[in-house]
Amino acid sequence: MPAKKSTRPAARELLFGDLWEYDPSPESAPAFIEPRYGLFINGRFIAPKTRKYFDSISPRNEEKLAEIALAGAADVDAAYQAAATAFISWRKLPGAERGKYLFRIARLLQDRAREFAVAETLDGGKPITESRDFDLPMAAAHFFYHAGWADKLDHLAPGRALVPLGAIGQVIPWNFPLLMLAWKIAPALATGNTVVLKPAETTSITALKFASILLDAGLPPGVVNIVTGAAETGAAVVNHPLAAKIAFTGSTAVGKIIRHSLAGSAKRLTLELGGKAANIVFDDAPLDQAVEGIVNGIFFNQGHVCCAGARLLVQENVARDLTARLKRRLATLRVGDPLDKNTDIGAINSKQQLAKIQQLVQSGIDEGAEIHQPACKLPAKGFYFPPTLFSGVAQSHRIATEEIFGPVLSILTFRTPEEAIEKANNTPFGLSAGVWTDKGSKILMMASKLKAGVVWANTYHKFDPSSPFGGYKQSGFGREGGKHGLLDYAELV
Ligand code: NAP
Ligand code: MG
Repeated sequence: MPAKKSTRPAARELLFGDLWEYDPSPESAPAFIEPRYGLFINGRFIAPKTRKYFDSISPRNEEKLAEIALAGAADVDAAYQAAATAFISWRKLPGAERGKYLFRIARLLQDRAREFAVAETLDGGKPITESRDFDLPMAAAHFFYHAGWADKLDHLAPGRALVPLGAIGQVIPWNFPLLMLAWKIAPALATGNTVVLKPAETTSITALKFASILLDAGLPPGVVNIVTGAAETGAAVVNHPLAAKIAFTGSTAVGKIIRHSLAGSAKRLTLELGGKAANIVFDDAPLDQAVEGIVNGIFFNQGHVCCAGARLLVQENVARDLTARLKRRLATLRVGDPLDKNTDIGAINSKQQLAKIQQLVQSGIDEGAEIHQPACKLPAKGFYFPPTLFSGVAQSHRIATEEIFGPVLSILTFRTPEEAIEKANNTPFGLSAGVWTDKGSKILMMASKLKAGVVWANTYHKFDPSSPFGGYKQSGFGREGGKHGLLDYAELV
């Protein structure tokens, strides 16, 4: 009798396919989202003078989550008046007292981390494991870190004093809503400034929930004001005469508009803008570890990450091997309901962003790159896009030059370290880069020649509040985190 044919693959490799399936594992904690949110001005939630509200929906299933107040110019003005008045006494508080508020905020965020993580995932679409294990702990860590600095500012620049700037206008994007808020608010308050912050239109909910934490922390009214709305509200925040500084995180296009409109004014400006990072893999790198780093680099948060490793530069002699390993790994990624704890890639933040990704992916196909997408079933409702690889990418392709801000990786090759540096730096951006090699000296050489604010070696997407983050070239200027970030919120006298 002939031996029964084995259904197992001959080679030892991960093969998930349809051999087995995960049971659903939905996060069930309540997010406590109010049906309607006002503006948070002078320590109170108030109705907008515009009398207008807009919907925040969940990209997970397109269901409406809440109505959000639309702030007009008069509302933004009220927020700045409150911030300017609060500044008079807030700046005089001893640093240790300001620190106590920041510690309280950090602890309250920790206490309510689960609820906030669910709200972040519902409103923005990122996997619950990411909001739970990254966004929330990092947001709290930023408040803890800056709380610690509040009474030690004299040690930042020995012999000089740090003077706060005043009311700061802050505008943030939708990819890390609460974390970007923390990056902005914590250093501003630690240095004695007050704040008018505008979250992104599609992801305002955690910022408004955060206002309730400020109330519980007993923060004096007007120290933090939150005005919601879209681009017009952002422009009103940027152009208000009482703003002493504008801190902006978002696209390079909007960063340019802001820089134009601030020219000739006395306002300070820091810009954290887009990126198109090179993740460079040498032939001596441990390839399986590199695969994990590449996957984390581009598929973390659906690729909605300014410092995502969006251009993979592989040394030519290992390109075929690495691409094959990547394709196998891609087949194991789970795309779907972001509230499910098994999900690796959640929902695309908005319909507009999904359309932008689709358009750029089509350009890659049209320009002649080779596309690879694993077979995966996407939910019928909501905004989803499968993990995507492009090989045979040329330097001139749009998918090699433009920020896609989605789960799409462009693979290019190089032969020598010089060529890798040349290609990595051949971009208007300069936010981040990755290097994978067994050789320490090569890491140091590459790091010194890559024009990027952050260079990760044999890892990717590692963040710490003590480590300054920011870009070169059209990725912006100014730093967030660490001593450098604090200095951007004060004048040295
Ligand atoms: P965006 O379109 O530039 O929007 C960013 C923020 O600015 C939003 O709150 C937006 O409001 C507001 N805004 C839009 N037009 C404005 C104007 N004319 N004046 C003032 N404010 C205005 O960027 P996004 O699409 O939300 O975010 C993605 C971008 O952010 C990517 O390019 C990414 O690389 C970048 N990013 C950079 C960093 C970094 O640290 N360097 C971090 C995260 C993200 P609405 O969205 O409500 O209309
Ligand atoms: Mg939303």
